[in-house]
Amino acid sequence: MRIWVNGGLRDAGDARLSVLDHGLTVGDGIFETVRTTGGRPFALTRHLDRLTRSARGLGLPDPDLDEIRRAVTAVVDANPVPLGRLRITYTGGLSPLGSDRGTAGPSLVVALDGVSRRPDTTAVITVPWTRNERGALTGLKTTSYAENVVALARARERGASEALFPNTAGRLCEGTGSNVFVVLDGRIHTPPVASGCLAGITRALAVEWTGAEESDLPMEVLAEADEIFLTSTLRDIQAVHRVDDRELAPEPGPVTAKAMRIFDERAGNDLDP
Ligand code: PLP
Repeated sequence: MRIWVNGGLRDAGDARLSVLDHGLTVGDGIFETVRTTGGRPFALTRHLDRLTRSARGLGLPDPDLDEIRRAVTAVVDANPVPLGRLRITYTGGLSPLGSDRGTAGPSLVVALDGVSRRPDTTAVITVPWTRNERGALTGLKTTSYAENVVALARARERGASEALFPNTAGRLCEGTGSNVFVVLDGRIHTPPVASGCLAGITRALAVEWTGAEESDLPMEVLAEADEIFLTSTLRDIQAVHRVDDRELAPEPGPVTAKAMRIFDERAGNDLDP
């Protein structure tokens, strides 16, 4: 694997950042995960816009988007895979121990690995821990993902691939790495960004392309919804066949299946929607 680190491509074994990088010591960093198909990134412009928004939210200098685009091309060319997970990481850089950011400037890492296509349906659990809809980091895609790692481990223990969080008001929010949609009486709903969820790029496209409504939803909606699905860069739209102990249909329901078809068609026709 060849990885872009601070200005050039390196073999994975030689790709190095300082052990005092602020991203490592205090989680002061942001990232994007971009899907590549046949070496072509999907929705890169939207991902770079969100990266810039996250940088501004954290007070990091604006990332150099031309350099990132060059890095993405170099990494994609150096690591040919049919379906790829491209990860752009941008951190506070080399810093003295302590919580202040150093003056060395940010670090940029771009890496890519191959992934398999996700199954059409999956199982999810709910967790009792909350997303904070009013935090300094709310809505930013930071590298501080340890809480998601813990929740995902809990999901795996229960044979599920995702864990859904409420926010501090007990309303449905999002998964560790996905947004959530429910179907009620034939209409599609998803929690608003004000719930504290990440403004997912797949979520935005699904709302735009299916006419889904943004609705404040109680957690209990998961026990009543006719259909449930997740969206994320690597899942696209993925139906849920089990939530905690509740079994739903083993195949995507009619509304979800239609949303999947619309998404596949629109995303296939426009790589940078
Ligand atoms: N919510 C969280 C916390 C995420 O980390 C992600 C993606 O990684 C998403 C939602 C889905 O966002 P996207 O569709 O942009 O991948």
